[in-house]
Amino acid sequence: MSALQDEAQPRGAKIKGNKPVDQLEAANRFIAASAHQKMHDERLWDLRKKRDAQMHLISEWEELRELASDIKSHTLDHLADYLEEFERNAKANGVHVHWAKDAQESNQIITDILKEHNAKTLVKSKSMLGEECRLRQHLEENDIHVIETDLGERIQQLDHEDPSHVVVPAVHKTRTDVSKVFVKTLNAEQGNNDVHYLAETQRENTRPYILNADAGMTGGNFLVAETGAVVVCTNEGNADLSANTPPLHIVTVGIEKIIPKMEHLAVFIRLLSRSALGSPITQYTSYFRGPRKGGEMHVVLVDNGRSTRLASKKFKAGLKCIRCGACMNTCPVFRRSGGLSYGSVYAGPIGLILSPTFNTHKYRNLPFASTLNGSCTNVCPVKINLHEQVFAWRETLADEKELSLSKRILMTAMGKLLAHPKAYRTAVQTGDKVLSYLPHFVVYNKLNAWGRQRDLPPAPKETFHSWYAKNYKNKGKTDE
Ligand code: SF4
Repeated sequence: MSALQDEAQPRGAKIKGNKPVDQLEAANRFIAASAHQKMHDERLWDLRKKRDAQMHLISEWEELRELASDIKSHTLDHLADYLEEFERNAKANGVHVHWAKDAQESNQIITDILKEHNAKTLVKSKSMLGEECRLRQHLEENDIHVIETDLGERIQQLDHEDPSHVVVPAVHKTRTDVSKVFVKTLNAEQGNNDVHYLAETQRENTRPYILNADAGMTGGNFLVAETGAVVVCTNEGNADLSANTPPLHIVTVGIEKIIPKMEHLAVFIRLLSRSALGSPITQYTSYFRGPRKGGEMHVVLVDNGRSTRLASKKFKAGLKCIRCGACMNTCPVFRRSGGLSYGSVYAGPIGLILSPTFNTHKYRNLPFASTLNGSCTNVCPVKINLHEQVFAWRETLADEKELSLSKRILMTAMGKLLAHPKAYRTAVQTGDKVLSYLPHFVVYNKLNAWGRQRDLPPAPKETFHSWYAKNYKNKGKTDE
């Protein structure tokens, strides 16, 4: 057996009620599972490279990003108007439209619709909003059997884990990990980790549920105000099966997914799949405009904190997100620590700025899981200033006294030192000298997390300041 097949799959962050999630602890466990970590890093970097290759084939790529960003900004500035236009047009198409202010209300509306129809089974395609609202858990508590129809999402459902990535939910798992889950839950053949066999096993298991389900659910990638339509992009066609096979189709979608017109859709469709998976288009781009013949269609428009974000100058731009996952694929921290280490529905750069809006205290450590290198901002198809927002969150956390004790002590000490140039220079000079004589174990010990994966460079013989003073200042030379 190879190291990868042999190694147990690392689990995600340990969630302890409202306590701050310790992303670092979970990331360390993921890194320690070196074969998984390497596989994860390589898979996601491969997606990033494919995205770059697609981008280079479109000469107007930057103009497209600019345009997408402008369309989103305009729509957010007139959100109420476009949502009302969508509602009018959707109703005219025979769709029932519902408004939910938060997750609880959304879950209740959906439960009520299902109960009214005496629905006991629901086939569902992937929806990050569903994860955000913990919808599946809520429905199951109400005796409604939910079957995920997206392959990755189904694997995660069967393994009782959350998705680790917005586009590829089981990307942290190896074929062997999946095989083990299917042996336990789908009675699959022990030790058979052939991908075709595994996909077929899941398909055979899920199809009867789809054919006999009482209701189907999809999310929505876009809502078109002008036509009252819901657009869903998938690669497996599972949304189409979930929407068209049962007589009842429920859509759950965040209010920020609205775009004004059909002509705007093309801009986003061109960017979405190229940014997400490096493919020119998703296999299925479905346009649901009304109920199927003899059926019923409901759209639940969910706020769940989006209006509050809309009113925030600093963090409003996060609402432009089209959930392509490109920022995750490029992020060096995400690729090495795995999506489940964040302990939140949204991980990676977009998770760092969205998660604290849901619960600042619980997710206060996340904005520090970034090197602020800006790669996420560079790849984002709707030009969200991700790394600047991560930094803004650090400032906000400091203002709201949400920094951990160790960070508070360190930042206060650093603030004082940096405010006094003489003390700073003395500290740097002394530090350099002391470091060059200290025994190895004093610098690289358990208390110094920074030194666990790094070596300090040799201390310079003199500081820049003393070199400058010697060579320029004291000789009367001036800098430019
Ligand atoms: S923030 Fe940008 S790159 Fe990240 S998922 Fe959203 S749209 Fe994609």
